[in-house]
Amino acid sequence: MLKLTRLSRMKWQPTGVLALAALIFTPLVASAQSQSEQPYTYQADVPSVEPVLGYEIGTKISSPDAIYHYFLALSESQSERVKLIEYGRSWEGRPLFFVAVSAPHNIAQLPDYGANMRALGDPRETSKREAEQLMRTVPSSVWLSYGVHGNEISSPEAAMMTLYHLLADTSEDTKSWLDNTVVFIDPLQNPDGRARFVSRYYATVGLMHDADRRSAEHNEPWPQGRSNHYLFDLNRDWIALTQPEIKGHVAALRDFPPLLFVDLHEMGGDSSYYFTPEARPYNPYITESQREILHWVGRNNAEWFDGAGYDYYTREIFDAFYPGYGASWPLYSGSVAMTYEMASARGHQFERKDGSTLTYLDGVERHFTSSLATIETASIRREELLSRYREYRVSAVEQGRDSDKRTVILADANNKAGQQRLASLMQEHGIEVMSNSSAVEVCDTRYPKGSYFVDLAQPNYRLIRVLLDEQIDMATDFVEQQKQRKANLLNDQIYDVTGWSLPLMFDVDVTYCDDTVTLPIVDGTIEPIAPGRVINPAAQVGFIVQADDANGSRFIAAALRAGLAVKQSELPFTHEKAGTFPAGTLILTRAENNDSDLAKTLERLAYDTGADVVGVDSSWVLDGPNFGSENVQSLTAPRIAVAWDEPVSSLSAGHTRFVIERQLGYPVTAIRTTQLVSSSLEGIDVLLMPESQASYTTYFSASSLKNLRDWVERGGVLITLGNATGWAVEAGLLSTHMEYATHSGVADDASETVLKPAQQIESEDALKEHIKASEKMPDYVPGALVNVNVDQNHWLTAGIQSELVATFTGNQVFAPLSIDKGRNLAWFAAGDEVLASGLLWPEIKQQLPFKPQLMVEPLGEGMLIAYTQSPTYRAYMDGWLPLLANSLFLAPAKTK
Ligand SMILES: [Zn+2]
Repeated sequence: MLKLTRLSRMKWQPTGVLALAALIFTPLVASAQSQSEQPYTYQADVPSVEPVLGYEIGTKISSPDAIYHYFLALSESQSERVKLIEYGRSWEGRPLFFVAVSAPHNIAQLPDYGANMRALGDPRETSKREAEQLMRTVPSSVWLSYGVHGNEISSPEAAMMTLYHLLADTSEDTKSWLDNTVVFIDPLQNPDGRARFVSRYYATVGLMHDADRRSAEHNEPWPQGRSNHYLFDLNRDWIALTQPEIKGHVAALRDFPPLLFVDLHEMGGDSSYYFTPEARPYNPYITESQREILHWVGRNNAEWFDGAGYDYYTREIFDAFYPGYGASWPLYSGSVAMTYEMASARGHQFERKDGSTLTYLDGVERHFTSSLATIETASIRREELLSRYREYRVSAVEQGRDSDKRTVILADANNKAGQQRLASLMQEHGIEVMSNSSAVEVCDTRYPKGSYFVDLAQPNYRLIRVLLDEQIDMATDFVEQQKQRKANLLNDQIYDVTGWSLPLMFDVDVTYCDDTVTLPIVDGTIEPIAPGRVINPAAQVGFIVQADDANGSRFIAAALRAGLAVKQSELPFTHEKAGTFPAGTLILTRAENNDSDLAKTLERLAYDTGADVVGVDSSWVLDGPNFGSENVQSLTAPRIAVAWDEPVSSLSAGHTRFVIERQLGYPVTAIRTTQLVSSSLEGIDVLLMPESQASYTTYFSASSLKNLRDWVERGGVLITLGNATGWAVEAGLLSTHMEYATHSGVADDASETVLKPAQQIESEDALKEHIKASEKMPDYVPGALVNVNVDQNHWLTAGIQSELVATFTGNQVFAPLSIDKGRNLAWFAAGDEVLASGLLWPEIKQQLPFKPQLMVEPLGEGMLIAYTQSPTYRAYMDGWLPLLANSLFLAPAKTK
């Protein structure tokens, strides 16, 4: 149990030893401690931060290189007790790594750790007795992940301090923890973001560090250090796994599944410290038992914080509903995950509103304290945590077995690319996926070879459900509370999106069957792109490529980059031998691609992009346009640019650039807005305006707006995403308007005066109606998935299915374009059909049907393509890739 006597000496006292580079690896005498507190006694042969890095802990915001260097130094000098494992590289090439720290006997057993945890957590493999046997020997474990947001600075420093303490402290407590617990420390989940923060921070420092919140030191330039290289919030990427930092982390957690997992952050500098238990709403797939464990951890943290005299709070914010946080994902495999947040000095010191000064070291010490407290909980509760882990996974298999949806089937003939990506992603999440090497009949349906099947009776049952379920409800009373808050014009307490079903976002049809399917589990890696092939490579006349899924979209980009002459049919056609092809299909003729290596090039592109290429020996078409028709456009490789820098939303800019560069495979020129409004746009074919933090209006003078408009009218394609579409309306580029809420109170008649006729109010509901603000904006939606219908009678939607699922976030609703101005090519579905997943407030749910998601308005020779909700949101709306590809590649062909 807790030893309260130790609490008095847990406060960290930095060493007073001089910083001398020559002291590297020289044994240090135990730290100087204040007389009033019992000191930690540190082992002399473990180097602290100062002799290795040349400064005392907390006196400098360490660079990613320095942090790596320190961890490497300790893992080399203390190799019996620390093992450093690299799990990837960031976009900018920095190592992504963690260490396992424990007593030598546990480190020696580390290679067996993962297998033991998997055996313990799989009742299909181990009996109750075997599990009990394992529980006698398997250590407890806690995984501490620091610095996912690069400008939340104190936690990586606390990681160094924690590592040092665990290795150097000679107390019985620390020894006993490491005797039965493995501590995994990932000191820096986002090294690129931290590098950006650190370089810019020190570039602003003057004669002395400035605590003034208005100072340059405390205000980072765009795009700030929070995000990674592609400007993603990595703490939202745990469901789609698009970024190497999170992909690698998930792989590491699968190899070394911990019992407890903590993600350590920072928040506003006027706050105190936050730890578990989390705020409502809880995701219903989090179990009561897990919530109880969260309570144990919070309770023990509180004792440590009380002992040190640190303020803290719990429960009020940071909910656990969306599964894409680092502190959520491990929960659905049986770990117990949580978030800690420290007030940020955002520099060396920060003057708080109450007049006190918060220092960098304050943050470091508190994160260090909560780290130790959590390790203690893991150690003390070893047996309970292990047995609850086992119970969690046993109950998962049972629930999966009893589920009326026993088998999930991925076999979507209309979206092979999406099917492959989803199967690959599920495997990456640690879910067992089966596949068939020849056609099988399941639940009275025949499925072709290469379909994917998932048996829900597996230990990751809840993870499968949380990723695939179309609807996961918040507690009714919580939703009612939120509606009440809305009525009083208070913000809701929902922290992130409420809908995230992967099949909906990827536009993949998933079927469920209540039978058991016995097929081999895929052993090797399911690649996210299944290589395509060339059929009839010796074809004399040319090649046909279907482009109605992401494989085809990637193929267009790759073919244009390879310098091939590509044509795209706006209409479906039937070739005399090769069969029927949908609108949007690509044609590459030998006549226009006069290259003896053409077949070889196409084989490479098919392999890389996943698209199948069909060679044809004639061009004869039985139905639809011929290859030379005016309904077949010649594409040319466009120069694509994206607006960059303030006032652009860095997230939206980053997502957009990532989707085009890394998901479609086509380069993007990022143009800073200062250039955009002052330079010629000559030579640019497509310009994307991502969502913005502040309106673009103030950035565009009348002459720069005219410059932009002239460029469009000369044939440019301007694409607005999300709220940039609102700016397009304001700028007179789009002939529609935005809407107030449907049920705004009636605006007063101007002729009325102070006295007005009486109105009878008959109920509380009527009162609520009566006091509603006039001209109220629609209620802000934190993020839901909505159904969208697509007009298929237009070249821009060539190859696009009639129904898609879009995100809806925010509160911008647009009136449809009138037909003389342009076309509404996608609109929100009718009535109750509009909600696909998540929570839409009742009023806006009534307002959305038939309002546009996608509009196109011709402007001179060019056009504006306006998405009212961004298809690049978090780079996880894969279902929109073909439409985006048409906007980027086919649209410029139509303007020339
Ligand atoms: Zn954070």
